[in-house]
Amino acid sequence: MSGSLMQGPLLISDLLTHAETFHSHGEIVSRTVEGPIHRYTYKDASQRAKQLANLLESLGVQHGDRVASLAWNGYRHYELYFAVSGMGAIMHTINPRLFPEQIEYILQHAEDKLLCVDLSFLPIVQRLLPQLPHLERIIVLTDDAHMPADAQQTLSKGNHPPICYESELAKHNAEYEWPRFSDDAGAVLCYTSGTTGKPKGVLYSHRSQILHAYASVQPDAMNLSSHSCVLPVVPMFHVSAWGVPYSCTLTGAKMVFPGARMDGAALAELIEDEKADFLLGVPTVWLGLLDYLRQNDKKLHTVQRVVVGGSAAPLAMIKEFQEVHDVFLIHAWGMTEMSPLGTLCTPTARLLSLPLDQRYQYQRKQGRPVFGVALKIVDAKGEALPHDGSTFGRLMVKGPWVIERYYRSDASALENGWFDTGDVATIDPEGYMQIVDRTKDVIKSGGEWISSIELENIAVGHPDVQEACVVGVPHPKWDERPLLLVIAKPNHQPTRESLLQYFEGKVAKWWIPDDAIVVKELPHTATGKLLKISVRETHQKHYL
Ligand code: AMP
Repeated sequence: MSGSLMQGPLLISDLLTHAETFHSHGEIVSRTVEGPIHRYTYKDASQRAKQLANLLESLGVQHGDRVASLAWNGYRHYELYFAVSGMGAIMHTINPRLFPEQIEYILQHAEDKLLCVDLSFLPIVQRLLPQLPHLERIIVLTDDAHMPADAQQTLSKGNHPPICYESELAKHNAEYEWPRFSDDAGAVLCYTSGTTGKPKGVLYSHRSQILHAYASVQPDAMNLSSHSCVLPVVPMFHVSAWGVPYSCTLTGAKMVFPGARMDGAALAELIEDEKADFLLGVPTVWLGLLDYLRQNDKKLHTVQRVVVGGSAAPLAMIKEFQEVHDVFLIHAWGMTEMSPLGTLCTPTARLLSLPLDQRYQYQRKQGRPVFGVALKIVDAKGEALPHDGSTFGRLMVKGPWVIERYYRSDASALENGWFDTGDVATIDPEGYMQIVDRTKDVIKSGGEWISSIELENIAVGHPDVQEACVVGVPHPKWDERPLLLVIAKPNHQPTRESLLQYFEGKVAKWWIPDDAIVVKELPHTATGKLLKISVRETHQKHYL
């Protein structure tokens, strides 16, 4: 027997209509690519999103068409998010940090019709334009005064000259009725960063994005409301900035977009000026901010919580946020295939009641699943492993915002109804999950496993170390042994002995790397993760 309530689709356009109606004064602040700070309200954003929908319609964009962006976090990108998905087309965000060949592949694979670009990324587009047969037009996300002088020559596609976003928007009115359609329809397309093989597309639906937003804003998840002032440093070109543009719009939270400047000084200034209390980003961004604050003897006065994900948050960072700035670091885990939210380690009543040292042992873990996500760990044969906090296994997930198949793939991406995340993890009896490693990065030494992440987290606590990378490289006796590579803090010179000694007493003796090297730089992926494949390749003969 069915329930007897109304049926209705969960659509992204409804979020903005809600914010326009009930949070009309809620602010959206952006540091623009052109320079100045831009400030407006949800009401203004909603009006402009409708103008944009009219503009896109006039360009022939139809239900299901892909509209791509290469853009920073800012108000025009936000308008695209809502106008494109709202009208039934698919917002396809592209990571500009990918190699040009990957960007070209992605644009061809998605068959994007339009490409909307911030000024910073025009050189990429100029180079790729001849290779993109499906692309009809470029929209430059700026005003007339900032359109490049040679735009007509370098950004025309066939007979179509490039469009200046602001001048064209101004020609369209804000009368637009968002269409109603099934919430199963694709809304947002995001490609994985593809460290092995080609990038793969994940197509989120309206329903999955809305459910993800509902789950994210819960008090024991991100705890967002109209009281919040949120600064997403995590880019809108990577898994919708962890869904923050939707969750903030759902709640009317003030949103602060950092644009192209994510260095410590720029972030500190924006946090202070706008009184941001909730920040989100990857560990490297926070290393930069904490360094800047330390060197300039400054404190964070308004921030209450910072969400750190994408890579493991080292204990040293958790402590520095807490003990110097009185900020609770919420360790989070997720992935492109999960829209991205999987787990959060939030300040529950129980965690806050613990002495700091005990609490940190929880905060080092990536936390517990938000409602909607199910987790389990399994062995090589797919048998479930115990949740005892020490048994490692392949981390499998399930839920309404978890991938079923990659974009344009005929094959399901699931194994018996679960998605294999490619991560190795432990789960403790209270449900706290801890990432041990990527399956392909875990170090296999003499038949046992060593977590490269755990070793890196320890190494960055060394007073001379800025960044650390541990890889397993071939060893004649043990198959693989860990090798530590570090970047030194400016004006520091760590020795091999002090680096290796630093592990003593912190891990089992056989986990301690056999050697340590100080390097000038480490390779990273387009999403800021260590590119361990290339480190392993460079050093594969180190122990032979
Ligand atoms: P992406 O799809 O590019 O967002 O990458 C997702 C992957 O990043 C996950 O499968 C993990 O390997 C890694 N990751 C995300 N968050 C964390 C975290 N808090 N700690 C360790 N690894 C993480």
